[in-house]
Amino acid sequence: MIEHDEFGPEKILEVSDADTGMHGFLVIDNTVLGPGKGGIRMTSGVNAEEVFRLARTMTWKCALAELPFGGAKSGLIIEKGISLDEKKKKVEAFSRALKPVCPSQYIAAPDINCGEKEMKWFAEANSSMKSCTGKPADMGGLPHELGSTGFGVAHSADVAAKSLGIGKNVAIQGFGNVGQFAAKFLAEIGYTIIAVSDSKGCIYNPGGLDVSKLISIKKETRSVVNYNEGEVLDGRMVFELDADIIIPAAIADVINKDNADKIKAKLIVEGANISITDSAKEILHSRGIFVVPDMIANAGGVISSYVEHIGGNEDETFKMIEEKVRKNTKLIIEHAQTKRIKPHDAGIEIAKQRIREAKK
Ligand code: NAD
Repeated sequence: MIEHDEFGPEKILEVSDADTGMHGFLVIDNTVLGPGKGGIRMTSGVNAEEVFRLARTMTWKCALAELPFGGAKSGLIIEKGISLDEKKKKVEAFSRALKPVCPSQYIAAPDINCGEKEMKWFAEANSSMKSCTGKPADMGGLPHELGSTGFGVAHSADVAAKSLGIGKNVAIQGFGNVGQFAAKFLAEIGYTIIAVSDSKGCIYNPGGLDVSKLISIKKETRSVVNYNEGEVLDGRMVFELDADIIIPAAIADVINKDNADKIKAKLIVEGANISITDSAKEILHSRGIFVVPDMIANAGGVISSYVEHIGGNEDETFKMIEEKVRKNTKLIIEHAQTKRIKPHDAGIEIAKQRIREAKK
C-alpha cells in the first residue's frame, strides 16, 4: 500500500508498451528541492510499492546531501535471461514513455541490473542528455562504473567505526557495483574483508579475503564462491559471522525479524537501499547495534549524479562525496546519540526539517 502524506508521492505512473513488452513504473515523490532524482531498478519483480519506498528514500537522501534534487525512482520489469537486444528495446520504450516528465520532473540514473550502457540507450531515446546521469564518459557522463557509491559507503563505515570505537573486520552482502567498490576502498584504508556473499553463496575467511582477486573471480566465474581460499557458506550466513561491521549491498529487506537477533556486528552500514525492515531496526537499536542508514551511507551515487548534471569531473565527484558523506555520517551519529533515537529516525527528522523550510 502506498500511503500519501505531506511529502508525497506527487505522481505515480505505470507505463507499458505492447510492441516491446515494456512494463514499468515511475514514482515522483517530492520535488520541493528540485526535479526528482532516482535510479531505474531493472528486476523481474519490481513493482509500484517497492519503487515508492525507494523514491521516498531518495527524497530524504537528496535533502540530507543538500542537493537541488527531489526524490523519485523508477522500475522496469526485466526478466532473468532476457537478450541484450530485447532489454535495449524495453529501455528505449520506457524512456520514450517517460519523456513528458523526464527530465523536467524526473532525472534517471542506474540502479540494480543497470549501468552506463542502459543509460546511453535511455538518453538517446529521450533525446536529452539531461534525462539521466551515469552515462558513458564520451557522453559527458560519470559512469556508475567509477564506484562512487561504494567509495562513499567505505568513508561512511570508516567515520562510524572510528567514532564508535568499532573494529575493522567487515562482512559484505552483495558483490556488484556497491559491494565491490566498498570492499576495494575499505581494504585500501586498512580494513579486513572477512566475508562476501552474492546470490550464489558466501565466501568466508577470518584471516581476510584478497579483494582484487575476489573481483577478478567474480568477473570470470560470476560468483565469489569460486574463490578458493576460504570456506563456502550459505549466503544468509554473511549476517551471522564474527564481523565488526556488516555492509548489506544487495537487495531490500534482507535484515529482518528472522535474523536481526543473530547479528554479532556492532555496526551496520547500509550500502543497499531499504535493506533493513522496520521491525529489525527496532531490534538492532535495542541491542545497541548502530546502523548508518542508506540515505546517508550510499549517497555517493546521487552526489556523483549531481556533479555529472552540472558538468563536473571525476576528481570533483570523489572530493564532494568524501566531504558530504563523512560530514553527514558524523551528523547522524551525534543527532541519534543526543536524542537517543534510531539513526534512521534522526536522518528523516533532519531531512523533513530541510524540506519544510524550503517549502516555506
Ligand atoms: P548490482 O546489480 O551491481 O549488484 C547486486 C549484487 O547483489 C550482486 O552481486 C548480486 O549477486 C547480489 N545479490 C542479489 N541477490 C542477492 C542475495 N539474495 N544475497 C546476496 N547477494 C545477492 O547492484 P548495485 O548497483 O551494487 O546495487 C546494490 C544495492 O545498492 C541496491 O539496493 C541499490 O539500490 C543500492 N544502491 C546502489 C547505488 C549505485 O550507485 N550502484 C547507489 C545507491 C544505492
